[in-house]
Amino acid sequence: MIKNEIKTTCSYCGVGCGIIVKKDMNNKVFVEGDKDHPVNKGMLCSKGMNLHYVANDTSDRILYPEMRWSRSHPRERVSWDTALDRAANVFKSIIKKHGSDAVAFYVSGQSLTEEYYIANKLTKGFLGTNNIDTNSRLCMSSAVVGYKKTFGEDSVPISYDDIELADTFLITGANPAWCHPILFRRIEKRKEENPKVKVIVIDPRKTDSAKFADLHLQLTPGTDVVLYNAIGRCLYKSGLIDEDFIKNHTQGFDGYKEVIFETTLKQASKICGVPAKEIQKAAEMIGLSKGFISMWAMGLNQSVIGTDKNTSLLNLSLITGQVGKPGAGPFSLTGQPNAMGGREVGGMANLLAVHKDLGNEEHRREVAQFWGVDKISAKPGLTATELFDALESGKVKAVWIASTNPLVSMPNSHQIEKAMAKSKFVVVQEISHKADTLNYADLVLPAAAWLEKEGTMTNSERRISYLPKEIEAPGEARPDVEIFCDFAQRMGFRGFNYNGAEEIYDEYASMTKGTNIDVSFLNYDRLKNEGTFQWPVNEYRSKGTPRLFEDKKFYTPSQKAIFNVPSTIENTSVKTNDEFPLILTTGRVRDQWHTMTKTGKVARLKTHYPKPVLEINPVDAYLNKIKDGDITEIKSANGVVRVRAKITDEIKEGVVFLPMHWGKVLNSNLNRANNLTNTHIDPVSKEPDFKFTSVSVSKYKKP
Ligand code: SF4
Repeated sequence: MIKNEIKTTCSYCGVGCGIIVKKDMNNKVFVEGDKDHPVNKGMLCSKGMNLHYVANDTSDRILYPEMRWSRSHPRERVSWDTALDRAANVFKSIIKKHGSDAVAFYVSGQSLTEEYYIANKLTKGFLGTNNIDTNSRLCMSSAVVGYKKTFGEDSVPISYDDIELADTFLITGANPAWCHPILFRRIEKRKEENPKVKVIVIDPRKTDSAKFADLHLQLTPGTDVVLYNAIGRCLYKSGLIDEDFIKNHTQGFDGYKEVIFETTLKQASKICGVPAKEIQKAAEMIGLSKGFISMWAMGLNQSVIGTDKNTSLLNLSLITGQVGKPGAGPFSLTGQPNAMGGREVGGMANLLAVHKDLGNEEHRREVAQFWGVDKISAKPGLTATELFDALESGKVKAVWIASTNPLVSMPNSHQIEKAMAKSKFVVVQEISHKADTLNYADLVLPAAAWLEKEGTMTNSERRISYLPKEIEAPGEARPDVEIFCDFAQRMGFRGFNYNGAEEIYDEYASMTKGTNIDVSFLNYDRLKNEGTFQWPVNEYRSKGTPRLFEDKKFYTPSQKAIFNVPSTIENTSVKTNDEFPLILTTGRVRDQWHTMTKTGKVARLKTHYPKPVLEINPVDAYLNKIKDGDITEIKSANGVVRVRAKITDEIKEGVVFLPMHWGKVLNSNLNRANNLTNTHIDPVSKEPDFKFTSVSVSKYKKP
C-alpha cells in the first residue's frame, strides 16, 4: 500500500528527468517517470528507473563520523561535535601557520545548488581563499569558457523543446544514446516523425548515436578544430551562410574567414581522417537546414584544446545565423545533474556567484559587500588538477572533499594517491563506504543522499527544479549544507545560521537580481506549486525563459556574438610515438554512473557492460597479436591497466577505448582507466584531457 508520493528529479545526468517517488508503509520507495514533466514526459532510462534500488539499499552507507588522531591509527567512530571541532581546529591551525591558501575544498556537480553556494561562500568569503573547485572542472569548464568568449557570458541559449523544432542535429564528442538517453530519445522521435530531419555524428567510435546518424564522421581524436573549420569553409564556399546575421550581430568574422581558408579541404580531410565529401555533405546538411542544433559533451570539453574546440563549434552557429530562434542553437550537454547550478553560484575556482568573475575587481567588491566581508581574495584559486598538484608539493596542507571520488575520477590516479598520502589532513564528506577516496581520509563525515535532503538543481537547459526530502537519512548522516554551516560556525564565522535550505536559496536568489541569471521571482513555494522554471525568472519573465538571445542582443559589450579564432589547430596533447603508438580515449558506458558508488549496487545495471574491457580495432589487435577476450596490458607514461580485449571495428584504427567507471571494485586498481591518463589541461579552461593519452597495448603474460 502506498503511503504517499512526491515529485522530484533524477540525481544522475544533466538531462534532469522528472521522477515520481512513491513510498510504501515500510518506507521503501519506488520510482516512475513523471508524465507531466516537460523534460522526459514519463520516460526514464535504465539508470533512472533503478534509482529506488540505490535509495532503499543502505548497506554501504556511512552512518557515523569517523576520525583518526594520527595516520598510524585506524579511524574510529566519533560524535559530530568531536568531528567538526577537530576539523575547525585543524583548519584554524593550518591557516594561522601557513595562510588561507594552505586549505582547499573539492566539491561536485552532484551537489545541490544550496550546497554549492554555501561551500563557495564559506571558502571564498570567509576562509579567505579561492581554493575551491569541483569535479565539474573535469566535464564542462571548456564549454563555460566557450560560451563566455562567444556570447559574453556562460549562457546555454536553447531548450529541449527546440529539439522538436530542429531539422539538423550535429552531435559531436558525445554519445547521448548512452549518456543522455532521454534527450536522445527525443531526437529519435523527432526523426521518426519527420524523416527529412538529419543527424550528423562526429566521433572516433561508432557509438549507438553514430549508428543512428545519417552521417558519421569518424575523425581522428584531437582534430576537431580542423574539422569544424573545414565545415565552416565549405559553408562559406557554398554560399550557405547568413550574411545579414554575420554583419549585424557578430564581430570578428574576417579573422575567422582567414583561419578557415588556411587549410584546404583536402588537407583537412587528411588531418582528420575523414573523407572530403563527408565534410562537404555535413556542411550542406547544416547550411540547408532551417533549424540547426549542435550538441556536445566531453569529447570537446575534455581536451588540452577544449576551449578552441568549443569556440570553433560555436562559430558554426554564428556563420549560419542559427542562434536565438526556434529549433536552433548550440547546446552543450552537462554530464552531472547540477553542473549548471554550480556554474550559477560560482562553484569553480575562477568564478564568483551569479556569473561574476573572480578576476574582476568590481565583481569581487560586489560579492564581498553582499556577504558582508571585507574582501574576496584576488588570488586565483587552484583548479582541480592544480589543487592535487599543490597537495603533493605541500603548498596545500588540508583538503575537504565532498560528494566526489577523485581516486577514480581524476586523471593520473597514481599521482592523486601520492598527493593524498602527502597531505596533512583529508576530510571526506560522502554517502558510501565504497568510495575509494575514503582510504586516505583522516575524517569521514556521513552525508545525506538523494531523497534524504531538500534543495534545487539546474539541468542542461537552465531548468531549475526543487528536490524534496522524502526519507530520513540513515544513522547520523546529515545534509551537506548543514555540515558546511555547522563547520563555518565552529570556525567563528557569522552568516551561516540558516533555518534550512530554503533560506539559502532565497539569499542566492536575491543576489541574482538584475543579472542575466536573475531568479529573483523564484522561490521554493513557486517551485513546489508550479513545477520547474528556466532561468532567468524575473519581473519581465516570471514564467521563465526557454530561449535566450531572441532579440539578437548578446552579453558582450557590443551586444554582438564573437567569432573566436583558435590559438592553434594542432592537438597539443601528448603525441603518440614508437613506445606508445595508440591513442587512448576514455568515457562512459550506458548503465553505469561515474565511479559506480551508486549504480554499482544495482545487479541489473551490471548486465549490459559487466566488466571493463579494452575496445580495439581488428587491425590494431592483429598488429599487437591480440585475440578477442585476451587479457591485455595497456601502458602509458603514467601507469598500467589490465583488462580483456574486445575486438571491434566500431573504433577507429589507431584508437583504443576504456570505460572510466571502474576503480577497486575487483580488489585491484588495474581496472582503473585513469591509471593511464595524463594531467595535461586546457590553458584557459583548465579542463584535463581524458580523450587523448598515448598508450601501448600487448597481450598480458603472467610472469
Ligand atoms: Fe536520469 Fe539522465 Fe536517465 Fe533522465 S536520462 S533518467 S536524468 S540518468
